[in-house]
Amino acid sequence: MNYADIKYPDIQDGTGIRIAIYVSGCHFHCPECHNKMAWNRNYGKPFTDETIDYIINKFKENENYTDGLSLLGGEPLELYNQEGLYKLTKRFKEKFPDKDIWCWTGFDFDKDILTKMYIENEVTRNLLSNIDIIVDGQFVPEKKMIDLIARGSYNQKKIDVKASIKSGKTVLLKFGDEDRFESLDSKPKVIFVKEFLKENPNESRFVPTQNIVKTIVNNVDNEEKKENYYQKQNIEKISADGYNKNKFKEK
Ligand code: SF4
Repeated sequence: MNYADIKYPDIQDGTGIRIAIYVSGCHFHCPECHNKMAWNRNYGKPFTDETIDYIINKFKENENYTDGLSLLGGEPLELYNQEGLYKLTKRFKEKFPDKDIWCWTGFDFDKDILTKMYIENEVTRNLLSNIDIIVDGQFVPEKKMIDLIARGSYNQKKIDVKASIKSGKTVLLKFGDEDRFESLDSKPKVIFVKEFLKENPNESRFVPTQNIVKTIVNNVDNEEKKENYYQKQNIEKISADGYNKNKFKEK
């Protein structure tokens, strides 16, 4: 098994401040993947016991203000990556039982993981026993929204792994960013990135998140709802980015 990168501190992949490992190898080949060089399983450096020691020690040095470990790729759940990640997550949970582990995968949790890989492979069962949250599904450019929390396209789901395994069915986690497309009749209008940039050609591709939120808010007719929606979005953004969760409330 190889890995492409280890990032610390990482504030993008999961809640709070994290340490993230990007493993090598992914057969999905999604269009517009940001990590194409990591499709090749031989890309990067060999993942060894020293790699695990490095991650554990780095986390230990910063334990008081670091929230968890994130597994990304490439594809962490390719079978050839699971044994190494199991060793890493086992050591991590033994050392830091109160910290969480997130994992991003292109596999569908329901169809591929819970009802297949989990049943067929002992190593998958072992690895999943250490993971708290999975963000599943391939990135779909047509479903991309840049202000989604912890995912790139809205088909991807955030899943409570322990609750799902216990109940035998997928248990979704809600972070507030699901509301806009779950019930379009009663919720604010969904603004897609392509649509937004077409209507606002002078906006930079890298700034419109906040503007998109405002545009969405402006599409809510009820003033009270509008205020709540705006606050909810901001609080969740702040908390997802690992900043002071009370920052917005203090204003
Ligand atoms: S699953 Fe992730 S790493 Fe693999 S091709 Fe898709 S976006 Fe890229």
